Amino acid sequence: MIKANNPALKSWIEVPTNNDFPIQNLPFGIFKTQSSSPRVGIAIGDQVLDLAVLNKLGYLKNLNIDNSILTNQYLNDLISLGKPTTSALRQRVSDLLTDTNTELRDNKEARGKVLQYISNVQLLMPVRVGDYTDFYSSIDHATNVGTMFRDPANALLPNWKHLPVGYHGRASSIIISGTNFHRPKGQTKPVDSEMPVFGATNALDFELEVAFIIGKPTQLGQSVTTSDADDYIFGLTLFNDWSARDIQTWEYVPLGPFLAKNFVSTISPWIVTLDALEPFRAKGYEQTPKVLPYLEYTGEKNIDINLEVTIQPENAEETIVCKSNYKYMYWTMEQQLTHHTCNGCNINIGDMMASGTISGPAPESFGSMLELSWRGTKPVKMNNGTERKFINDNDTVIIRGYCEKDNVRIGFGEAKAKVLPAL
Ligand code: MN
Repeated sequence: MIKANNPALKSWIEVPTNNDFPIQNLPFGIFKTQSSSPRVGIAIGDQVLDLAVLNKLGYLKNLNIDNSILTNQYLNDLISLGKPTTSALRQRVSDLLTDTNTELRDNKEARGKVLQYISNVQLLMPVRVGDYTDFYSSIDHATNVGTMFRDPANALLPNWKHLPVGYHGRASSIIISGTNFHRPKGQTKPVDSEMPVFGATNALDFELEVAFIIGKPTQLGQSVTTSDADDYIFGLTLFNDWSARDIQTWEYVPLGPFLAKNFVSTISPWIVTLDALEPFRAKGYEQTPKVLPYLEYTGEKNIDINLEVTIQPENAEETIVCKSNYKYMYWTMEQQLTHHTCNGCNINIGDMMASGTISGPAPESFGSMLELSWRGTKPVKMNNGTERKFINDNDTVIIRGYCEKDNVRIGFGEAKAKVLPAL
């Protein structure tokens, strides 16, 4: 077991009950304040530990990390030092925050310099995303969509159980939680019209997803095996792959999603390391028919992450519309990465690969409004008495996620954004 994951660890920093960031988590992010430039931080309870100042004060000296790597707009340079260094850094922070360690605990002046309340800082995009790929790896989601749009008897296309289907998305519009955006416009073809029309989407949807971030590059021509894949994955964030269903329906033939999905994707600010998630590994689906040898894997490669989506209408309380779990993935992220590189396609630090919509078997676990409202035929009731088929203007959509085991609960924070009226 990784020492920093020990459920018995306690911090001298007060961590509120049900907080996402106990000492067993220690996720990485980028933040700034009114008086400081962007820098690397680690979340602990409702505070953030400033690693740049911590390093400057000498608390990280054994790790030999140049301070320019910690006073940085992105985590990419830190991640590029490799897992031996980033894991040792997480371990060192764990030691420093452990209740029995006096080094920082008993230095009031240093404590005042390295800790800030998260509510007092601005969280920024944690990584510079070079390339973004979206998969389609939840069997319940793919079955629901195939049932709705094609043929219930043959909901999954012939390739689906043989390879993790995916497409190349757009990195430029991946944005940090809390950034609101305007309802996108585009071309759609109403069913009763012979000609397409241009205008704001009438079917704006969320997609509940989890993304992994590449932590080690490959050379062009190189492939990653399922047994090595975890070495190339730094950590995970929550991911909302916002989608305009009416635009998607009209444009997607024959090359797949384009403008229906590239206007905005929202991620949570903290990258939870794969190290921190190891205790929550879970058994995956039995894959039948047997996958080709290059996609075979051993061990427990799914992860038990409770996921939730809420919709908050303007001036109203949140309504939980979906409760799902990352463990419902049919294809594991290791298989996704192996497939992605099997042709020699190279990957870079900071690349983001999203799971695809994560639906479970129960109707309340469906990960999009498309499925929850069954293509608009079953409106979803809000706590304030209104109904939704898709997302309205001024609605805020919030994704949350957490793992729980042995009385330890580690979470991801939120991926949250409000939809403003079309420009
Ligand atoms: Mn998607």
